[in-house]
Amino acid sequence: MGTIPADFCVDEKMLRIGGRPADALVAEAGDTPLFVYDFDIVASRIRRFRNAFGDVQLHYAIKANTYPPLLTQITKLVDGLDVASGGEMVSAMEAGAGADHISFAGPGKRDDELEAAISAGVTLNCESQGEVERAISIGRRLGRTPRLAVRVNPDFEIKGSGMRMGGGAKPFGVDAERVPALVRTILDQDAEWRGFHIFAGSQALDADALIEAQRATLLLAAKLSEEVGAAPPLVNLGGGFGIPYFGGEQPLDVEKVAAALNEGLERRHDRLRGTRFAIELGRWLVGEAGVYLTRIVDRKTSHGKIFLVTDGGMHHQLAASGNFGQVVRRNYASAIATQLNAPAEEETSIVGCLCTPLDRLADDVMLPKAGPGDLVALFRAGAYGLSASPQAFLGHPPAREMLVGKGL
Ligand SMILES: *Cc1c(COP(=O)(O)O)cnc(C)c1O
Repeated sequence: MGTIPADFCVDEKMLRIGGRPADALVAEAGDTPLFVYDFDIVASRIRRFRNAFGDVQLHYAIKANTYPPLLTQITKLVDGLDVASGGEMVSAMEAGAGADHISFAGPGKRDDELEAAISAGVTLNCESQGEVERAISIGRRLGRTPRLAVRVNPDFEIKGSGMRMGGGAKPFGVDAERVPALVRTILDQDAEWRGFHIFAGSQALDADALIEAQRATLLLAAKLSEEVGAAPPLVNLGGGFGIPYFGGEQPLDVEKVAAALNEGLERRHDRLRGTRFAIELGRWLVGEAGVYLTRIVDRKTSHGKIFLVTDGGMHHQLAASGNFGQVVRRNYASAIATQLNAPAEEETSIVGCLCTPLDRLADDVMLPKAGPGDLVALFRAGAYGLSASPQAFLGHPPAREMLVGKGL
């Protein structure tokens, strides 16, 4: 079982989030299931990034969590928002981000999405030559200059346990060797070239793997710029900062990554002297700030095994059920929020209310004895919770969401 994030105090009977008792938060929200996001935790991650990375810009990849009050607060503290659909672009604007601070990546952008982005002045991180051509012709039709960056499909990939060479065939980005010709097309047409977007992977906890990937990314950006014969205004170096979800995982040493990047930037190729650099992060900023609170509806025993059945489940928190990209199911950290400091004396399994064996929230965990009425907390629910779960499946009510934090 994963450990509870250090941001939460476990010495009290009732879990507190943002300093407030879980049962009071549920009462204020009206009911369970409820996602609570502590903005102080998000703000502390942003401060830590700023202290470590100096001039490197920080972008928030909003697909991790688009809850509007949270997005509005984050927008005030970061340099840009990265979106991956027309809908997310609207969310970013509603959160107060100016078009200058939004970039739009993602394969399969429809013409109406390109049109909306070009009309607004949002940067498109183009994923193919065809997309560049469509954007240029839409820009001509609208009488607007499209702002185009090229997403590069690099020949390397970060993995948790080290960097894997040979990125290979992907639906994302343009293969590196085709990039210079495509950038020249942009420069020769009625378009503004905004730079490169080079994303090499996600959920890395190994600082050395990230350092290696960022080093390779800087070299690739320099090589491509040389071949183009022009300097990119911005290089988005990707992100990939992970958080430790499971027992035995160690948090990422962000300061080590920053020290290596800052040194690499000082020694960067002359062609990139005037270029700005950005890192785009999702889960590292918001993942540990979120707690998913559900209430135990039933307690039952089957063949000697105790099941706590909750009113939540994988329709809100798919990732905790193990069905969002995990190969082997492992438990997210969980607790009985209403008996937080009681001794763990019982092996139980926490399940959701969906009528499918996939809906498991915590298997065979040692917890205090709990029953109907108690609240269950699932931690690290701030990223890819509600934004990545099949809410419509089985017709249960939607989850509620709430933003807390003393600094709000
Ligand atoms: C999903 C995504 C991110 C964010 O990933 P995290 O693991 O949440 O940090 C950043 N950039 C791109 C291009 C993405 O697709």
